[in-house]
Amino acid sequence: MADIIQLLPDHVANQIAAGEVVQRPASVVKELMENAIDADASVIQLIVKDAGKSLILVVDNGSGMSSTDARLSLERHATSKIKTASDLFNINTKGFRGEALASIAAIAHLEMKSRLQHDPIGTIIRVEGSKVLSQEDAAVPSGTSIAVKNLFFNVPARRNFLKSDQVELRHIIDEFHRVALAHPCVEFKFYHNDSEMFNLPVSKLRKRIVSVFGSKTNEKLVPVGEETEVVRIGGFVGKPQFARKTRGEQFFFVNDRFIKSPYLNHAVNSAFEGLLKEGAHASYFLYLEVDPQGIDVNIHPTKTEIKFEDEHTIYAILRAAVRHSLGQFSIAPVLDFERDASMDTPYSYKGKTAMRPEVDVDQSFNPFSKEIRSTPGQGFKKHKQADWESLYVGLESKSNQPDGESSHFEVESDPDSVGMFGQEHTIAHFKTFQVQNKYIIKPIKSGLVIINQHRAHQRILYESFLEEITVNAGVSQQLMFPKQLHYSRPETAVIRDLRPQLEQAGFVFECLDDEAIEINGIPSAMAEEKVSDILDSLIRDVQQQVPGASFSQSDLIAKSLAKSMAIKSGKHLGSEEREFLIDKLFFCKEPDKSPFSKPVFVTLRAEDLEKFFI
Ligand code: ADP
Ligand code: MG
Repeated sequence: MADIIQLLPDHVANQIAAGEVVQRPASVVKELMENAIDADASVIQLIVKDAGKSLILVVDNGSGMSSTDARLSLERHATSKIKTASDLFNINTKGFRGEALASIAAIAHLEMKSRLQHDPIGTIIRVEGSKVLSQEDAAVPSGTSIAVKNLFFNVPARRNFLKSDQVELRHIIDEFHRVALAHPCVEFKFYHNDSEMFNLPVSKLRKRIVSVFGSKTNEKLVPVGEETEVVRIGGFVGKPQFARKTRGEQFFFVNDRFIKSPYLNHAVNSAFEGLLKEGAHASYFLYLEVDPQGIDVNIHPTKTEIKFEDEHTIYAILRAAVRHSLGQFSIAPVLDFERDASMDTPYSYKGKTAMRPEVDVDQSFNPFSKEIRSTPGQGFKKHKQADWESLYVGLESKSNQPDGESSHFEVESDPDSVGMFGQEHTIAHFKTFQVQNKYIIKPIKSGLVIINQHRAHQRILYESFLEEITVNAGVSQQLMFPKQLHYSRPETAVIRDLRPQLEQAGFVFECLDDEAIEINGIPSAMAEEKVSDILDSLIRDVQQQVPGASFSQSDLIAKSLAKSMAIKSGKHLGSEEREFLIDKLFFCKEPDKSPFSKPVFVTLRAEDLEKFFI
């Protein structure tokens, strides 16, 4: 048989390498910004259009390249940063693999302008899909600017995999944060579609963190510092009382390189043990300096994972350093998480004498309808009470039940009430049970329905929010004291974008500036003290899109609110609450699925039960 192996042509090899290095526009941003850092730039500008899908431009005032180097930089394995394999263990630069520019040039239109500081003339190179179209001398500023257009123009499959602009932009911002936080001594500017996202002057680390995440961040930071022979640790951790439910601001830098490390993350979390509210995540900005000989950066093409020679020691030192800081700044003793905000005395009440409380009973008040109420406007829009069993009968007959027996799901009647008044259907109202504070069990004539309470409530909330956002505006409850919430600029931008839908859902708010909003009203079903957590997860969901990507912004919001507001598993429900939930559930359009397509209830028919006893 003839020989069949051949070497792949360069442009194919480059495209393959690009598959690893360039996953999305954010990867290009990372590589170009890191090259600018390696070139010792003191000012770096990032200009992005359409979340990087049409343009990513990075301009630096660094060393620049000669015209030969500029041409060579686009070849694979072309690097000025290492010469021998042993250099791999003494890396002080971000790059060293020499494949980023070649990979990017293989899958995009790239234009590079570069000039060495002391050369009178520079060079412009244009490349499309690894093909050099032109190289010319030109009068260009010293330093380098690289424009990447039409990313994945020749790899349509990858292009199709790109997410919405919101999501891709979020990834770009994440990469930008990582580089900007690692290099406070460099000035950064970032524009997206002509609006300025960040303008970060050279500053100290603390100031840099604050400029990135908003001025409110300052009061949340506790410094961390430790110097040992193995590692030097600096940076900040967030005070526990400010910890958010969403995992967000968690950064490790090792020798000024952002890295991901579940192991070190564990060390920090264990230092926070006992200090965080349930479900809250510590935030941290931790900078480790170790001897480059003691780490291996070359274990992953994107270089965000590294191997430490002395991982266990670093774990122990890091944990101790963080604990020490938390203790030293006396965070631990003053903790009082369980404090109920509603117990705080507003200023104007101070000094007033206490009055004997009057008891004023509203006979018609049903405490449960608030607890798990379905529609935010529930008190105002009167639904006819659903006769859930009959709804359910209809549903069942649709779902190809062979016998088509319509009395199949009738509620088992209470024997005591039968006969006397002949009312077989004085619904067995309290015949529901809760198991493990998680499931509601309702006996029906033909067996049992077992309902997952959390998912049922998600479904109820989801449908009602969706209706309000798209059809009838929801009812809002006014806050006694307006609530100010602080965000980073991109987070505020998300809230601004969602404003019409949020207002429909019942929020009333104003954007005070690029980093703060003031809330005056919230959806009536929402608990005031939860608002900040709910909005945090909404912002995250929009930025990252909840799994099972939604059809529309409205759908996404309804899902996110339903997810964070639904009663949780583990919550005890009284019998009226259970009945109420069941009524509302079977009043929904699709009671059998949660908004995330998970089953809400199962039925156990008598025949099924009997099988257990054979
Ligand atoms: P690596 O960074 O791993 O060396 P790249 O493909 O990213 O590989 O870049 C190849 C080479 O091009 C670099 O080693 C560097 O010499 C040069 N280069 C790239 N970007 C710049 C820049 N912005 N300024 C100066 N030189 C650059
Ligand atoms: Mg590089």
